[in-house]
Amino acid sequence: MKLGIDLDDVTAICAVPYLRKFAERFGVELPDESEIGWHLVDQSRVKPALRDAFRLELYDSPFFGELEVYPECPAVLERLVEAGHELYFVTARAEKRRVITETWLREKGLLRYAKGVHLKPRGDFVPPVHGRYDERGSAIYKWRVATDLGLEAFCEDDLTIARTLADGGIRVFLFERAWNRGLEHPNVTRISTWDQLAREIGV
Ligand SMILES: [Mg+2]
Repeated sequence: MKLGIDLDDVTAICAVPYLRKFAERFGVELPDESEIGWHLVDQSRVKPALRDAFRLELYDSPFFGELEVYPECPAVLERLVEAGHELYFVTARAEKRRVITETWLREKGLLRYAKGVHLKPRGDFVPPVHGRYDERGSAIYKWRVATDLGLEAFCEDDLTIARTLADGGIRVFLFERAWNRGLEHPNVTRISTWDQLAREIGV
């Protein structure tokens, strides 16, 4: 099977460290870790222009190079490759983040499992949405990559992206996070851990 794999919040633990820094900067109170997520950025009273500036500043810092990997992820990727599956990392991170992204993947021992690493080209389809990352443009981008590569399934955490891929007939393994509750779709299988994904695929 050809399998697309998202990076942030599927492979890399991202929202929690992001929100901790966001909360520190803007004095936002955070809930328990299991409830921390991207929805809190939207719910905060921080002005969209300030959220944008913060995001760009953080993404230009070593942030992406310092993320932790979900603990069971590397072993499951190894088993998937050994079983003959083809893995492609497909992220909505901008193409200009390729060096830090691939360096991180290499350091974490993950790059060797991938047939390819796809990042979002600049200016792809939809103009930037202020105050948050561009969910709709990212969904169109991932759908196009999935179609071009002939992906049969995709590991994702974002609701809009998951729905777009699932509507297009791609099986989605939706990693359960605080911000993606409630999506029901015949092509979507909700997954809580990498070990559960391994069981679903039979490796
Ligand atoms: Mg993600």
